[in-house]
Amino acid sequence: MKDKVYVIDTSGFIAQLDFRDGTTVTVSAVVDEIMDSTSRLRFDLLKDAGLRVELPDGACREKVRSAAISTGDVSVLSVTDMDILAKALELKSEFEVILVTDDYAIQNVAANLGIEYKTAATSGIRKNVVWELKCTGCGNVVKSGIECPICGSGLRRRRVKR
Ligand SMILES: [Zn+2]
Repeated sequence: MKDKVYVIDTSGFIAQLDFRDGTTVTVSAVVDEIMDSTSRLRFDLLKDAGLRVELPDGACREKVRSAAISTGDVSVLSVTDMDILAKALELKSEFEVILVTDDYAIQNVAANLGIEYKTAATSGIRKNVVWELKCTGCGNVVKSGIECPICGSGLRRRRVKR
């Protein structure tokens, strides 16, 4: 049986997933993208536990690019997305790789390359939470302010469904 390796995308650091049955790997570009304190804390904990930060193999990046062109995802994949996919592809020849990501385009290309993936958001926490203000009177939605510009009622903050 091959050793298990979790290749963790930016969204993977939000999740409280248990990676203790395998090795954890990410790429430098992902580390640069970790901004919020929860993910940063999680990153630090995993780093202490042996998380490896590596650069992807160039040949694998080319294969990822070709796969992304064939699936039609190439225009929405960032350099970071390409890097994490390339790292997963590179390690797949030697290990049982599980790519941890919430990104649909990455998942799509991973499936095309035969890379197993796992969704990170188990508790419904999304990477980008967008809020809007809704009037408690007329239901008008505004981006900012303290009262409704139409009817003058109070505003309530709510999460935008995406
Ligand atoms: Zn109103």
